[in-house]
Amino acid sequence: MKEDHLMASTTTTNPLGIHALVWEGNTSVDEVQSIVAQSAKAGYDLVELSLHDLENLDVASTRAALDEAGLKVACSRGLAFDADVSSPDTGVVARGLALLQESLAATAALGGTVFTGALYSALGKYGSAMTPDGRGNAVAALRELASEAEKLGVTLGLEICNRYETNVINTARQALRFADDIGSDNVMIHLDTYHMNIEEDDLVRPVLEVGSRLGYVHVGENHRGYLGSGHLDLPGFFHALADVNYSGPITFESFSSSVVARGLSDDLAVWRDLWDDGADLAAHAHRYLTTHLAVSGPRD
Ligand code: MN
Repeated sequence: MKEDHLMASTTTTNPLGIHALVWEGNTSVDEVQSIVAQSAKAGYDLVELSLHDLENLDVASTRAALDEAGLKVACSRGLAFDADVSSPDTGVVARGLALLQESLAATAALGGTVFTGALYSALGKYGSAMTPDGRGNAVAALRELASEAEKLGVTLGLEICNRYETNVINTARQALRFADDIGSDNVMIHLDTYHMNIEEDDLVRPVLEVGSRLGYVHVGENHRGYLGSGHLDLPGFFHALADVNYSGPITFESFSSSVVARGLSDDLAVWRDLWDDGADLAAHAHRYLTTHLAVSGPRD
C-alpha cells in the first residue's frame, strides 16, 4: 500500500474543539484568560464556552482574548426548570426564551456562529414525560429564536441528551422530527457520544440518519473521562462521520469533580474525580482525535 493512498482519505480538516470545563468552572475574566491560553497551548482550534455563568462573562475581553489566540468559539447551554421553553406554563416558557435570547446575543457578540446545547429543555431529570403542549411551546420558541439567530449569522444546534437530562429529545430521530417541526434552515443536529451510548442502538446509525444535517459533535467517553479509557466504539463513530463527509467541529467534552461549576456540575451529575490534570487530559484528547480521525476515511 502506497503512503499517498493512506493519506488520501482523512477527516482531519474538522476543527477540533475543547469544552471550557476541562479548564475552569466559570467564566470570570481571569478564568477566560486561563481557558483561552490553555486551549491554544494544547493545539485546539475552537473553545466551547458554556453560558451557565453569563452574568460574569465579559464579552469584549473574551472576544479579544479569543481573537488574539486565533481560536474560534462555540457557545452552549441548557435551560432551568423555572425557565424552560418546553413547559406547558407560558410564564416559564417566556423566561426560558429570554434566557435563550440573552445567550444568543452573547454568542454573536463573541464572534460565534454556533449556539447549541439543550436549548429546548431544562437540564435535569424530569419527573414525568413531556406534554404535547410543552413540545409545541418548545418548537414555537426555537422557531422564534432561529429567526433572530439567522439575522445574527448564528446556527442553532439541538444537542441530543440522555433521559436523565431531558425528556424532550433523547434520540437522533426525535431531534430530526423536532428540527423538521421548527422548519428553519439554521437549525442543525448536535450528536454527543456520551448521550448516544445511553439512548441509541449504536454510535453509527444516528450519524447516518442525521447525515448532512449534522452540525456539531461532542466526543466524550461513557464516563466522560479520558478518551479511549472507556468502552465506547469511538473508531466506529469516526468512520461514520467520515462516511457522511462531516466537516464541522468535533469538540472534546469531559467533566471531573476536579473542576466544578456549581449548579451545572450538579445538573450533569459530576460526582467523580475522573481526572485532576486538565492539561494532560486535553493533550491526550487532542492526540487521540488527531490520530484516529487521520485514519477514519474509507479506502479500498
Ligand atoms: Mn455534550
